[in-house]
Amino acid sequence: MRGHIQKGWGNTHSSESICFKTSEFSLELRQGFQSGLAVGLGRSYGDSSINSDGVYFKVESDAHIEINQDEMFALCGADASIGDLERAAVAKGFFPLTVPGTEFVSIGGAIASNIHGKSHHRAGSFGESIIEIDLLTSTNQILKLRPEGKNSGYFWATVGGMGLTGIIINAKIKLGRVETSYALVEERRATNLNELLQLVREFDEKYQHTVAWIDLSGEYVGRGKVIGGNHAKVCDLKERDKKSPLVPKKPRKISIPKFLPNWFISNLSVRIFNFIWFRKPLQKGVKHLRDFLHPLDSAKNWNNVYGKSGLIQFQFQIPYNEEEYFYTVFNVLKESKIASFLGVLKSFGPCDSSLLGFPNPGWTLSVDFPARRTDLLPKIQILIEELVKINGRVYLSKDSILMENEFRAMYQKIPEWKALKNQIDPDNFWRSDQGRRLGLC
Ligand SMILES: Cc1cc2nc3c(=O)[nH]c(=O)nc-3n(C[C@H](O)[C@H](O)[C@H](O)COP(=O)(O)OP(=O)(O)OC[C@H]3O[C@@H](n4cnc5c(N)ncnc54)[C@H](O)[C@@H]3O)c2cc1C
Repeated sequence: MRGHIQKGWGNTHSSESICFKTSEFSLELRQGFQSGLAVGLGRSYGDSSINSDGVYFKVESDAHIEINQDEMFALCGADASIGDLERAAVAKGFFPLTVPGTEFVSIGGAIASNIHGKSHHRAGSFGESIIEIDLLTSTNQILKLRPEGKNSGYFWATVGGMGLTGIIINAKIKLGRVETSYALVEERRATNLNELLQLVREFDEKYQHTVAWIDLSGEYVGRGKVIGGNHAKVCDLKERDKKSPLVPKKPRKISIPKFLPNWFISNLSVRIFNFIWFRKPLQKGVKHLRDFLHPLDSAKNWNNVYGKSGLIQFQFQIPYNEEEYFYTVFNVLKESKIASFLGVLKSFGPCDSSLLGFPNPGWTLSVDFPARRTDLLPKIQILIEELVKINGRVYLSKDSILMENEFRAMYQKIPEWKALKNQIDPDNFWRSDQGRRLGLC
């Protein structure tokens, strides 16, 4: 047990409380507190990892990871990070099928958010690569959850369930075979949104991993760059790398000073950054998987560039054929003089069986803006109303502003999820601020 300050990545939500090790959990301990919440590495942006009226729990397995080479899976403690998993797997010639944009996400957090990666069009969400989860329930049982058969309902309520069904202790995760720790990448520029979307479609056909960056500044025409990559084979490498093709790599550690001044991110500074980024020479050839899949991780606390008031990320998903919505978003940003330097666009393939999972076939775009620009919130509310009309949705792991009625309109399987939550957590012990706001707990 220890004093703990829990913060969202956006630096807009925090709470001070006690944090217990999962091994300390007992019915007596539970009765002493109103509610509890498992937390990982604090990379969710808003209030999904915040529990203002209760305590926190952290899994402490010392990031335990075992690779089963014959059956091609990893058994991971939920506190291990995606980066730990990648390095352990790569050393043996394997790689996870789905990884997010940062390696600093815990396995527990990745399951609770049912994360998606640049490979969604081929591999689906993280939940689809999970063979088994060990879940500690509020009645102090450890349940084995699998995607099919007995307990599969609890499995798909826990995958994407934002920690509200219990504490994920361990998970068995499927791995893919790789010959090297490198990717063979290609990058192309597009001068407008139509070209950009077309390039993403082409890249999805060719590449296992695809992502686009949109320039959300200036004329907001949707110009940007698309990068795609496949796992490189030994024959693709330079002679000197062929001798040891599987090299686990740790991120460089350039720390951003704690809280730069608020003006550091301004319309002008972002516009200049985006101008340079758009013109930066295009990448082609072999790149280490770490640098290709997690480019932002070299700057460890980049969220500090938004100053003390923090940032809000609006990540939405829209179905194919609703691309007009992008222009609605661009117009709001342009009118409000909001330039965003992290406009990340991806395509989604088919959805899985998770009840609160985010991906649905279509497009997803994330837009960052400074939380101090509170004048933008009513406009984002209007964007959310428009999103509901076209059957789009907001990603819970990035959200801090959605209202319960909007959430209900976006996620149709909430009643099914709630029925399972009542069974597995009859006293409604697992709670978060987001869960309360959205009527989930
Ligand atoms: C730079 C950056 C890039 C990102 N890129 C992507 C991306 O490409 N794709 C994507 O899908 N997401 C992405 N995310 C979001 C991130 O993957 C999710 O927010 C993820 O849940 C964070 O995991 P965490 O370990 O930090 O968990 P936390 O932020 O600590 O918690 C997040 C949620 O997980 C629950 N949780 C954590 N551990 C457990 C556990 N052991 N048992 C049960 N519940 C648990 C918490 O209760 C909470 O609801 C990104 C975030 C950042 C900051």
